[in-house]
Amino acid sequence: MSTFGDLLDAGQFVDAAVCTTCLHGTLYDQWPADGEWTSARAERARATLESYQLTPGHLHAGAFSNCSHAGSPCPDDCACERSEFSHATCAVCGNTEPGDRHDAILVAHADLRP
Ligand SMILES: [Zn+2]
Ligand SMILES: [Zn+2]
Ligand SMILES: [Zn+2]
Repeated sequence: MSTFGDLLDAGQFVDAAVCTTCLHGTLYDQWPADGEWTSARAERARATLESYQLTPGHLHAGAFSNCSHAGSPCPDDCACERSEFSHATCAVCGNTEPGDRHDAILVAHADLRP
């Protein structure tokens, strides 16, 4: 069985960018009921989170880091885990609307099982 740390060391994770809705939804289990949160996004988010465990943030150092200042510690109020106006597709719900994206690490539940 692999631990979360083993998987990170081995690069066995997805370096993801997720929209604010999905970050908050995952952290607080609060998902919007209407508006821009379409059933397509809701369904995709449900399917993604069924397969993957989401951990906010990214690796700040190491071979698998994509940190803008990899190898040096975060200064106060560092924004390296966040993009304020990104066109990246949300890795959880597939949202392509430009906006805030937050870095997150996705690890497959299957990899964490014995
Ligand atoms: Zn960083
Ligand atoms: Zn930083
Ligand atoms: Zn999303």
